[in-house]
Amino acid sequence: MPLPKIDLPVYDFTIPSSGKVIRVRPFTVKEEKLLLMAIESKVASEIIATVKQVINNCVQDEIDVDKLPFFDIDYLFIFLRAKSVGDQVAVSLTCNNVLENGEECGHSFEVEADVSNVELIRHDGVSDDIKLGPASGVKMRYPNYGIMRKLEELPEIDKKTHIIVSSIDYVYDKTGMHSYKDYTTDELKDFVEGLTEENYKKLERYVDLFPSISGKIESDCPKCGFHHNVRYTEFYDFFI
Ligand SMILES: [Zn+2]
Repeated sequence: MPLPKIDLPVYDFTIPSSGKVIRVRPFTVKEEKLLLMAIESKVASEIIATVKQVINNCVQDEIDVDKLPFFDIDYLFIFLRAKSVGDQVAVSLTCNNVLENGEECGHSFEVEADVSNVELIRHDGVSDDIKLGPASGVKMRYPNYGIMRKLEELPEIDKKTHIIVSSIDYVYDKTGMHSYKDYTTDELKDFVEGLTEENYKKLERYVDLFPSISGKIESDCPKCGFHHNVRYTEFYDFFI
C-alpha cells in the first residue's frame, strides 16, 4: 500500500510591495535541511539558488521570484520560517550598558526573539524619480533577491555603487528614456561614478532608504540588569 500523503497547511501571505495575497505552505523537513546546508556552505550562489527553489516550492500560486523586490522575499522567508520551524529564534546579545565604573558590561547572553512580529519599515518621502539636471535624471527600482544577496558579498568600498547601479531602471534626458538593459554594468558604473558628489548622494539616499525588515527584542541583562530594547535587521543566522 502506498504511504498516505499528508497535507501541509496553507496560509495566506500578503506580498508587501504589491499587496497581492498568495497562498503558501510551510517548509518540509527536507527543505529545511537543504536550507541549512546551503547557509552553512556560506556560498552566496548556493544560498540564493536554494532559497529561491524552496520559496517556489512553498508558494502555491504563480509568482516570479526574480521580479519581486528583495525585501518581499526576505519577508516571505521569515514568514515561512515562523510557520515551519517556529516563531522563536535564539539571538545572542552583548550588553553595552556602561556601568558606574565607566566600563561596558560586555556580558553576552541568549534571548528568544519572536519572528512573528517582524515588520517591514518603509521610509516616507523617497521618490524613485531622481532628477540629476534640468531635463535629465534616473528612474530607480528595487533589486531582486538574487542580485541583492550577491551584492552583499562585495567589499564595503564597492558595495554602495554596485547597489546603486543595480537599482537603475531608466536613465533619461532630452532624448528620452533609456532602459538599463541598453547598457553594460561597466557603462552604468562609469555613469554613476562620473556624477557630482551632490547627485551621487541623491542616488545613495534612495538605496539607503530601501524598505527594510526589522524585529524587536526586549530583555534584561542577567549580569547588570539593564533593560535592552533593541531592533535587529539581520536575519541571516536564523537557521544555524
Ligand atoms: Zn549588562
